[in-house]
Amino acid sequence: MKYVRYRDSRGEITYGVLEEDTVCEISGGLFGAREETGRKDDLGSVELLCPCEPSKILAIGWNYRSHLSDRPAPENPEIFVVPVSALLEPEGTIRIPDDAENVHFEGELVMVVGKKTREIQPSEAEEHIFGFTCGNDISERNWQKNDLQWWRAKGCDTFAPLGPAIVTDFNWKEGQIRTRVNGETVQSGRFAELLFDPPAILSYASRYVTLYPGDVIFTGTPGVTRPLQPGDSVEVEIPGIGVLRNRVA
Ligand code: MG
Repeated sequence: MKYVRYRDSRGEITYGVLEEDTVCEISGGLFGAREETGRKDDLGSVELLCPCEPSKILAIGWNYRSHLSDRPAPENPEIFVVPVSALLEPEGTIRIPDDAENVHFEGELVMVVGKKTREIQPSEAEEHIFGFTCGNDISERNWQKNDLQWWRAKGCDTFAPLGPAIVTDFNWKEGQIRTRVNGETVQSGRFAELLFDPPAILSYASRYVTLYPGDVIFTGTPGVTRPLQPGDSVEVEIPGIGVLRNRVA
């Protein structure tokens, strides 16, 4: 199933199931009874929003060999926290702060937690993962390198585009990701190349923090990245999930 969150033509914010180009409204939220109400809208007539409302965003650094350059592979998932105020809707505009000089894209697979998760084993992870979506972990590389914390390097407003849909039956083991800037492919990777896979990440994170339904974990970015410029269009595509498209201002 493909779930979206959207503002409909009445201006109401709701969740729905995406079937081709039709969104079918559901009641009960993403993690409740999820019953279709019968109301349907054309996809083109609604405004897609971030597909869930996380209480926290975790993200993994250095999770593909192709992104490590000459660094050693980490022994455990290298986790950092991004404030939820950084979330940006699909089609929303990434805003580069005036004094930022080196803002990069990072296309990523994002897992969405489906139930309260604390101290689970990797073998239990599957029943705790609701689904997967696309994310772009926008990163100011100079601040990432020079600040003690990554609160602004990774956490400025609009630095966490998320969406467009959550796919519940996504087979990440055979999935792949591409990032395009102005139509040119600038990143590609296969999720089989992840150093720590989604069950390992969720299990490790749950040893230290309780995760709640709707919390999201960005799983890391492959390959090398480069600076974005105002006016760029950046797309993160995961076949089977969709395309997360954002402009840069
Ligand atoms: Mg990242």
